[in-house]
Amino acid sequence: MDLGISGRTAAVAAGSAGLGLGAAKALTAEGVRVAICGRDAAKLSEAATAIGGDVITLEADLSTPSSGREFVEQATAELGQLDILVTNAGGPPPGTFENTDLDSYQTAFDMNCRAMIEMCRSAIPAMRDRGWGRVCAITSVGVKQPIEYLMASSVARAGLTSFLKITAREVAADGVTINSAQPGTHWTDRVAKIVPDRETAASTVPARITGDPDDFGAAVAFLCSEQAKFITGTGLLIDGGQASGLLD
Ligand code: NAD
Repeated sequence: MDLGISGRTAAVAAGSAGLGLGAAKALTAEGVRVAICGRDAAKLSEAATAIGGDVITLEADLSTPSSGREFVEQATAELGQLDILVTNAGGPPPGTFENTDLDSYQTAFDMNCRAMIEMCRSAIPAMRDRGWGRVCAITSVGVKQPIEYLMASSVARAGLTSFLKITAREVAADGVTINSAQPGTHWTDRVAKIVPDRETAASTVPARITGDPDDFGAAVAFLCSEQAKFITGTGLLIDGGQASGLLD
């Protein structure tokens, strides 16, 4: 299926590994010109090789809101214009009510909520002016069903999801869609640091497998496609059945 976005441009935040890399690969395969960022030059160069094509790599640490804005500004300057934005970053460390201090919430909010908001605030006005744009936020199954051992992550992403929903409705008439891709357990560096091994990770998922970052990337690319023009303000669970609630 041709997603109808060949020749478009995209910025994929934290596209140097894991789910962001999966999204960057899928968009590039659709003929999209992609800029990715990450903190580490060597990792970015490895990612560029894995993605193939004419990918732009930008060094950025997304732990502050201003760095989110700067990434979008740099990507836009390199690409000429920005049609597609995939917001993403690293994840906050595990923690419960008992052992999450107040500063940890601020850190998570800065990286996993406010930096994403700044990316959107930077990218969306020009998309609206041109009458076409796609935003896909990589968030978490924790938005649908808060994860008790990822307190700060769950709290920050819930705030971001409200922002995405309200903004999606505000800009919908201008041809800009805003959705989130909500991962359950995918076997990435992040999950390998939290869960002892892949079998243990898979045992918590109804499908009894862990997600593949490349499959996840394909779902992101679809949400950014021409055909997804009537899908906005939604969150797509990609979780092997992990979330058990009814409401979207
Ligand atoms: P990952 O650690 O495998 O990859 C993230 C990439 O972003 C890495 O290249 C890392 O170096 C880079 N990065 C980390 N912190 C950064 C920062 N401050 N600035 C710029 N780049 C940074 O992670 P992942 O599994 O791909 O997860 C991506 C996001 O999705 C995270 O926020 C994570 O919490 C969330 N998530 C992942 C899963 C999963 O199953 N993998 C599930 C739910 C939510």
